[in-house]
Amino acid sequence: MKIDCVIGIDIGGTNIRIGHTDENGKLADFERVSTKEKFKNGNIEESMTIILKEYLDKYCQQYNVRQIAIGIPATLSADREEILQVPNIKGMDHMFLGRTLEKNLGIPVALGKDVNMLYFWDYHEKNLAEEGIGIGVYIGTGIGNAIFINGQPLTGKDGVAGELGHIPMIGGTGKCGCGNVACSECYASGWHLVEIKDRYFPETDMGELFTKHWDEPVLKEFVDNIACVASTEMNILNPDSVIFGGGVINMKDFPKKYLQEKMYEHLRKPYPAESLDIQYSEDKVENGVKGAIIYAGKLLKNREK
Ligand SMILES: [Zn+2]
Repeated sequence: MKIDCVIGIDIGGTNIRIGHTDENGKLADFERVSTKEKFKNGNIEESMTIILKEYLDKYCQQYNVRQIAIGIPATLSADREEILQVPNIKGMDHMFLGRTLEKNLGIPVALGKDVNMLYFWDYHEKNLAEEGIGIGVYIGTGIGNAIFINGQPLTGKDGVAGELGHIPMIGGTGKCGCGNVACSECYASGWHLVEIKDRYFPETDMGELFTKHWDEPVLKEFVDNIACVASTEMNILNPDSVIFGGGVINMKDFPKKYLQEKMYEHLRKPYPAESLDIQYSEDKVENGVKGAIIYAGKLLKNREK
C-alpha cells in the first residue's frame, strides 16, 4: 500500500527547493534546482509541471501525494489563487500557477507567500502556541513580514497585508524598487546594507561587515532602522512574540543585543516593551520547504475534517 505524503516547494530568485514527507512526517528527498536554468524557456507553468513530474517519478513512486504547497517571493491575491507581483522572477505576474499545476498533475496545489512558509516552520520549530498574534520579521535582500493570527496568516483585503518593507519613513528620500519614495526597505534591508558596504567599506567582505566595523555610526544607524521598523509593527499589534530571521540577521556578529536595546527604546512602555518575546530563527536552506510542508499538512487535515 502507498504511503500518504505532502510536498513542499520554495521558489526563490536563485533556486527552487522541493521536498516531501516520509512515513514519519519528516522531510525527505530535499532537492534544489536552479531557477534561471529551469525557467529559461519563459513558460513557467510548463517548466514547473516538468520539474514536479520528474520529482514525482524519481522520489514519490511508493507515495500517494495528497497535497502540494508552494511558497513564492511574491504578493498574492487574498484567495491565494493569483500571483500578483514577483519582483525577482520574470514572467510570473498574474499567473494562476496553483490551478494549472493542479490540472496538470491531478494533485491539490496551494500557493502562499514565502515569508509565511518560513513562519510556519519557525513557530513550529520554536513550539510557539498558535493562539494569539505571532510576527516574523525577515531581513534579507528586502524586508519580509509574516503576521499570524491564531495560526493563520493575515492576508488583508487584497492579499498584501504585512508589507512592512514599504511603510514610509518620515523625512526619507530613498527610492524604493516598488516605485515609492522613502520606503523602509531603503533604510533597513539587505540591499541597503550592500549600498552601505560599497560606499563606506568597499575593501571589506560583506560577511565581515559587522565583525570589522560595528563601531561605525553608519552601521549602528542601520540596526536602529531595523528596530524602528519592527517596533512600529509591535506597537500596533502587541504580538505574543516576534521572530527575527533572514540573511542579514544571521550575518556573523550581527548585533542582536543592540537591536533589542533599540527595540526597547522605541516600544511603548510598559507594554509591549516589557512583555515582548523576541526570538531568532536560523537561516537554513530547507526552512521554506519545511514550512510549506507544514502548510500542506494543515490544508490536508482541514479537508479531511
Ligand atoms: Zn517600497
